[in-house]
Amino acid sequence: MTNDISLSFFGAAGTVTGSRYLLEFSNRRVLVDCGLFQGYKHLRERNWRDFPVDPASIEAVFLTHAHLDHSGYLPRLVQNGFNGTVFCTKATRDLCKILLLDAAKLQEEEAAYRNRHHYSRHEPALPLYTQADAKAALALFETVGFSDPDNPQPGVSLGDLSVSFHANGHILGSSFLDVQVAGRHILFSGDMGRGNDLIMRAPELPVYCDYLVIESTYGNRLHDNRDIWDETAKIINETIAAGGSILIPTFAVGRAQAMLYLITELRNRKMIPYLPIFLDSPMAISVTEVMQRHYRYHRLNKARCQQLSRDVTFTRTVEESIALNNLHMPAIILSASGMATGGRVLHHLNRMLGDHRNTVMFAGYQASGTRGARLVTGEKRIKIFGSYQDVRARIESLDFLSAHADRMELLRWLQQMPTAPKRCFVTHGEEAASDQFRIALNEDLGWAACVPEMGEKVTL
Ligand SMILES: [Zn+2]
Repeated sequence: MTNDISLSFFGAAGTVTGSRYLLEFSNRRVLVDCGLFQGYKHLRERNWRDFPVDPASIEAVFLTHAHLDHSGYLPRLVQNGFNGTVFCTKATRDLCKILLLDAAKLQEEEAAYRNRHHYSRHEPALPLYTQADAKAALALFETVGFSDPDNPQPGVSLGDLSVSFHANGHILGSSFLDVQVAGRHILFSGDMGRGNDLIMRAPELPVYCDYLVIESTYGNRLHDNRDIWDETAKIINETIAAGGSILIPTFAVGRAQAMLYLITELRNRKMIPYLPIFLDSPMAISVTEVMQRHYRYHRLNKARCQQLSRDVTFTRTVEESIALNNLHMPAIILSASGMATGGRVLHHLNRMLGDHRNTVMFAGYQASGTRGARLVTGEKRIKIFGSYQDVRARIESLDFLSAHADRMELLRWLQQMPTAPKRCFVTHGEEAASDQFRIALNEDLGWAACVPEMGEKVTL
């Protein structure tokens, strides 16, 4: 039937990364999200496989938000022939500029390192993509405004396809998408934020849909409901009393800015003593600047947003970062990456993990297989830069700072949907999380739901 619409799940199916959903209708193809697989090696290797359809045959990509597991495969798609348009919000584009170029630079550096050390099965080792590929991808971006009840603008209209973007509170510029094809509505949740985030505004209400693609990162878990302010102050005060410092591995986009706000507020409110705060991540610094530019999209007013640059020392250069090794007083260092899989935070971990006076405070989701997940589950020896390091520092996981809605928050949001969708597809979760959220949709809401498999194609 020519009227058929098919939806294929090329990522984030039974796992949390690699979001890529292909819609096919009337001989047309569009992609919702174009993410990198991250975490375990067998997942990362998927980034090297051929894309299941010819990238040149895809006319557009719609991005829910800038995180690399939703946008980081774009340069590779472009390298392999995609030449359509990438639609997203302004803030998503500004963040992608930072993230995609940085990801490309890391890929190039890693390939060069492997070649220098003949440390590759493939000679020569190649980057997944280059900075030139990232620039070519960024040249295809076109921005779209948010739709909301006061401003129900149509978003993008391409023949019998239209897509509108609705703020969903996860990070700056993030959205859920209402995709309308041939009279049918498909809602893609993207990564759902929360009602009471420190910085992001609450998600917009869900709109009517026939089909729902819903994330389930925390589909089987509830966030800790301890008081964010008291609990964080308590950990910091205990660490300072012991003469230690606090290291916060943080995601450069989103959590770094929420943590900066939280910690500078604690200091301003005198809930913790005066101590220096460093943001040691060039990317998180650039993202903080994007946030300061887009202050209308979040809860902090312009003045409070600008104040972050005065309250915190930004260490952009390598020399400034190395100088932090010689601090002789308690301090708070925020550094990326958030799951301690790479970046400057590894140098700080290497130096700080062995000392029982220090605290390492994780502030977001830790995917299985990452160093962050190992530390949070209490492993006592961790490999960094090729050798094992004893873990004597205190490890804390502040999951109440998560940028993802938990199981209850997701269900509560969905209950506000005008009518039940015909079918729900539960994605973007590890197996147990997705499956238990599917059961919750079935049993608590009485909705038809399934967990699609990687590569599965369904007809809508
Ligand atoms: Zn995300």
